[in-house]
Amino acid sequence: MQSSKPHVALLSSPGMGHLIPVLELGKRLVTHHNFSATIFVVSSHTSAAECQVLRSSMSPRLCDIVELPSVDISGQLRHGSGIVTVCSLKVQETKPLLRSAMSAMKQPPTVLIVDLFGTSALEVADELGIPKYVYMPSNAWFLALTIYAPTLDKLVKGEYVDQTESFRIPGCKPLKPEDVVDPMLDRTTQEYNEYLRVGMGFPKADGILVNTWEGLQATTLASLRDEKLLGGFANNLPIYPIGPLTRHVGSTSSTYELLFGWLDKQPRGSVIFISFGSGGTLSYEQMTEVAWGLELSRQRFIWIVRAPTITNRHAAFFTSGNAGEEPSDYLPEGFISRTNNVGRIIPLWAPQVDILSHPSVGGFLTHCGWNSILESITNGVPMIAWPLYAEQRMNATLLTEELGVAVRPEALPSKKVVEREEIAKMVRMIMVDEQGFGIRAKVTELKQRAEKASSEGGSSHHVLSKFAKATSEYAKSRR
Ligand code: UDP
Repeated sequence: MQSSKPHVALLSSPGMGHLIPVLELGKRLVTHHNFSATIFVVSSHTSAAECQVLRSSMSPRLCDIVELPSVDISGQLRHGSGIVTVCSLKVQETKPLLRSAMSAMKQPPTVLIVDLFGTSALEVADELGIPKYVYMPSNAWFLALTIYAPTLDKLVKGEYVDQTESFRIPGCKPLKPEDVVDPMLDRTTQEYNEYLRVGMGFPKADGILVNTWEGLQATTLASLRDEKLLGGFANNLPIYPIGPLTRHVGSTSSTYELLFGWLDKQPRGSVIFISFGSGGTLSYEQMTEVAWGLELSRQRFIWIVRAPTITNRHAAFFTSGNAGEEPSDYLPEGFISRTNNVGRIIPLWAPQVDILSHPSVGGFLTHCGWNSILESITNGVPMIAWPLYAEQRMNATLLTEELGVAVRPEALPSKKVVEREEIAKMVRMIMVDEQGFGIRAKVTELKQRAEKASSEGGSSHHVLSKFAKATSEYAKSRR
C-alpha cells in the first residue's frame, strides 16, 4: 500500500558543507512536516568524518540514506578546476544512477530537492513528472550573486579582482572586488564557467530554499522576490528562507569523552574554539602564528588542526584531512606541553556543534563556512572571521559589516600571514575585552532572533510549512 505521506528525495553533492545541511533539511521535513525522506549522497570519496556524520544521521532512523557509487570525472577536469567543478561534474555523471534509483523506488518520490551544485539533476524530476527545488545551503547574498553572475559576466570587462569599484547586484549590498567568490578569481578557468552554469541552473527549478531567515537578510530576500530587481533573473521563483537549519547536538561519541570532560571543568564562556571547517588548511608559517597568538592571548582554547599546506586554502575539502603527521611535528616546539592546562589540540575533526553549544565556549575563530556561522550564531558565540575559500570572504563581510557579530584581521588570511599580536588582540577582544562587548551583545540578540524564526509560528517555520503544504497538495493531486 502506498503511504499517504509526501516523499521527498534530496540530493547532496560532495563535501560536508553540503551533506550536513541536506541531511538536516531531510530530518526537518520528516520530524516537523510529516514527510518521508530519501537522501541521495553523491560521494567524492568517503572520509572518516563523512562516515561518522552519515552514521549519526541514521540513528534514530528518520530518513533513508542512499550512497550513490562514486564516478570518475578525472578525464573532464581542465585548467583551473576546483570545488565547483568537481561537485557539479560528479552530480552530472551520477545522474543516470539517480534516475534509475528514483524510478525503481516502491514509493516513488513526490518532490526532488537538490543542493546548489545539483541543478543538472533537476531534469530527472521533469522525467518523473514531480516538482523540483534547489536548496542553497548558504546565505541570500551569495544566492543573489550566483543568480546574477551570468549577467555580471556580460557587464564586466577584465578580471573581477582588478576592478576598482564594487559590483552592483540589484537590490543587494554591493560586492567588493576582493570579496568575490573563489570561482570568480580567474575568468579563464573551468571553475569560473562551471560557476556560471550553476547560476543558470537555479531558474530552472520550481522554487529556491535558502538557509537564512527573513529577519537576517530582509533586503536581499526582497530583491530576490522583486521582478524589477533580482526576481526577474531568478525567473520570479518562490524563495523559501527556511533557516537557520543547523545540525543537532548530541552526536558525541566515546572518542570525545576526554575532550568534553575537560570542557565541563572550564569556566563559563572561557574557551575559544578554532576550526577551519571541513576543508580549511593553513601554511606552516600561519599555524605557527596562530599557536603563538593563542599563547599570547592567555585564553583557553580547543583547536582542530590539520597538517600544514603550502598556502592557506582548502586542501582537505573532500577528505576532511588525512591522518599522518602528528601535531607535535608541525606546531611550535613545546607548544602542546606549555598549553596543556589551558588548551586542547584535536587532529582533523571534532563534533563542532557539540563544542559550540557547550557553555564553556565563548568564542569561535572560524573560516566562515555558512554552516559554521549559523552554528555559532544559534549558540550565541561571537566570532573571529578568517575566510579562506569559496564564498567565505562575502560571509566575513556580512558578519563584520552588516551583522556586527565578528572581528576580522586587517588583511585577508588567504593572501597574507596574520601575525601573532593581531591574533592575540582579536581573541581577547571577542572573549574578554571591553571593546568586544558590542559584538557579544549583538550575537546574543541574533541568537534569540534565530530561535524565534525557527520556532513554531516563526518566519522560517511558517515558510517551510508553506513549502510542505504546496508539495503535499501536489502529491495528493497525483494519487
Ligand atoms: N564540522 C564538524 N567538525 C569539524 C569540522 C567541521 O562537525 O571538525 C562541520 C561543521 O559543524 C559544519 C560543517 O562541518 O556543519 C562544515 O560546513 P561549513 O559550511 O562551515 O564549511 P565547509 O566545510 O563547507 O567549508
